[in-house]
Amino acid sequence: MATATVDRVPILQAGKWQTGNGQRTGDVYNPSTGQIIAQVPLCTAEETGPVVEAAAAALPAWSETPVVDRARVMFHFRRLMEENFDDLAALVTREHGKTLAEARAEVQRGLEMVEFACGVPNMLMGDTLPNIAAEVDAETVRHPVGVCVGITPYNFPSMVPLWMFPVALVCGNTFVLKPSEKVPLSSVRLGELLIEAGLPDGVFNIVHGDRECVDTLLTHPQVAAISFVGSTAIARYIYETGTRNGKRVQSAGGAKNHLIIMPDADLDQSIKALAASGYGCAGQRCMAGSVAVAVGDVGEPLVEGLCDYAGQMRVGPSDSAEDVDMGPLIRREHVERVSGYLDIAGQEGAKVALDGRRDFGGDAFLLGPCVIDNVEPGMRVATEEIFGPVLSVIRSADLDAALEVGRNCPYGNGASIFTRDGYAARQFKQHFNAGMIGINVGVPAPMAWFPFTGWNESFFGDLHIQGSESVQFYTRQKMTLTRWFRGAEDSHHDPVWKTSRAN
Ligand code: NAD
Repeated sequence: MATATVDRVPILQAGKWQTGNGQRTGDVYNPSTGQIIAQVPLCTAEETGPVVEAAAAALPAWSETPVVDRARVMFHFRRLMEENFDDLAALVTREHGKTLAEARAEVQRGLEMVEFACGVPNMLMGDTLPNIAAEVDAETVRHPVGVCVGITPYNFPSMVPLWMFPVALVCGNTFVLKPSEKVPLSSVRLGELLIEAGLPDGVFNIVHGDRECVDTLLTHPQVAAISFVGSTAIARYIYETGTRNGKRVQSAGGAKNHLIIMPDADLDQSIKALAASGYGCAGQRCMAGSVAVAVGDVGEPLVEGLCDYAGQMRVGPSDSAEDVDMGPLIRREHVERVSGYLDIAGQEGAKVALDGRRDFGGDAFLLGPCVIDNVEPGMRVATEEIFGPVLSVIRSADLDAALEVGRNCPYGNGASIFTRDGYAARQFKQHFNAGMIGINVGVPAPMAWFPFTGWNESFFGDLHIQGSESVQFYTRQKMTLTRWFRGAEDSHHDPVWKTSRAN
């Protein structure tokens, strides 16, 4: 299917765009048309190593560049993103398939990360404590960690890379981005804008590939830190391999997010929020609602209302003029994988209340919204990440039973409650087994200034992405004790090691 006319996606090494050696390549699709739109090199170890070395070569000068000048590049980059906002969003839609409205929201979230990074100089200030011992002053300052690597998933082609490199760069690190080979075009465009913003050669680099490329990054002696976002199996692998090789690693994985609907909830509002959470971006969000837990007698009207609402959603190609509520999934195989869960649900005794499989015409990778009712907590549709437009409904007697569902979940990204009862909301917030909580909010994803606090198998590492934790991740502290000698009468003992204790 690939033709000689499709674009070849370049890598960025030391400020130069280059095509790979062409030994192995992958196809980039437009999910709305089913057509291949570009070919991406799957870089070998021999191609990947020099990209890291370019970042290492640029490190001394960049880390010594005054922090306000580093931030100023980010201010310029922010302006260029604003000027190119519509094109950036259209590119996300083209290579990913989410609707233009969703792509615009994604680019906006990414832009906010850049805005956060512009303010990072404030957060790099250290602590001082004069006279911590007799005439000894103590201070800590933050230094960059070195060459940082970002490895990103397909579902947010623009936002997830922007979770990483703006903060890393302002902190004084140099960067190698390895975007998802399914959606490399947005990263390339961001790289072009960074160069236009005045970033020196080699400070930001892009390499493409799959396992061989990633393994080279995980083991390269000049890589200091790795930020990863993707599925749990790979997140664990990245964390274990990276840390075994002495790297600092933050590794965000997959999810299974719960939406609890209490009997007193505003049902109409809750249904709209559930649909937006479960079907937004065609369910391909790590914060997408996946399991609705209907408490008490709300189950029947909830399923009925949800099927009715979701059944009316407009599903279609997202890059044409027509307005749609939900676009295609990333690949034809993914449509088949997600659809397979409807069969699994039936085999396990659940009921498919809304089946999104239908003939849409054309070659887009489409699947409509699906609702699975009568789901029991142990079923595969209740426990496995589906990553498509499928909401499974569990009926539960009370809030305690709903909390129990969460307690048994291996993941721990997001969970939301829909209620008018403050006490129930408080119980939920305090006790639900997840790191990001929504109260009448369907997708409780934190904005740039707060950390993305996944728990359990949704995150491996110590310091999360976004917010002040990201500044901590991309810096290391240096502590200095200073003493100036008065003269010959000074004690030869360090005052820090002297004690006034009698015994
Ligand atoms: P993925 O794990 O398949 O790929 C993520 C990255 O890992 C890509 O760059 C890919 O090239 C690389 N990769 C894939 N297989 C590899 C292997 N065997 N060895 C080394 N590298 C490998 O994830 P995806 O399908 O692109 O993205 C969807 C997943 O990402 C979902 O599970 C979703 O929940 C998760 N996600 C999590 C968050 C979060 O913040 N927790 C955010 C977005 C997406």
